[in-house]
Amino acid sequence: MPSPTLPSNPKAPERAQLERLLNTAETICNKAGFKLTELRRQVLSIIWLYGKPIGAYDIMAELEKISDREQVAPPTVYRSVEFLLQQGLIHRIHSLNAFMAKRHLLKNQVEALFICQNCGEAREVTNQVFQQAINLSANEMKFHIQGQAVEVLGQCQNCRNKGSK
Ligand SMILES: [Zn+2]
Repeated sequence: MPSPTLPSNPKAPERAQLERLLNTAETICNKAGFKLTELRRQVLSIIWLYGKPIGAYDIMAELEKISDREQVAPPTVYRSVEFLLQQGLIHRIHSLNAFMAKRHLLKNQVEALFICQNCGEAREVTNQVFQQAINLSANEMKFHIQGQAVEVLGQCQNCRNKGSK
């Protein structure tokens, strides 16, 4: 299988990490009976390498830079993104209308996203207590959970430090 074209020269450690992530992602897809196609790999790589939440239009622009296709149609990108979401490989950040790669693909726990509204940086926090609290509330309401997203909005330490100078 030819290795996918990757965006703008990722640094070597990043590149190795990305390869590991893509392999894990491929295993997850295969187990579910799906294929991580070249396009899906490219979209996942773009989202991962971006390092912070990225919107669909920016994904499209990156994809056009690295692919042979002259123009990438929005539905093509949306379908790939939907697929990656369904496989649990990326987060949808509702409050920003953007997407972010998951750092821990195999952990089946709630990940809260702490999103800086100033610089757009988002940090994934895995916390078992969040999951327990959500499960407890769901049980009390006899609610069947099909998806969950915890988004906390605010200002990151960097931005707060800059602001106080
Ligand atoms: Zn910030």
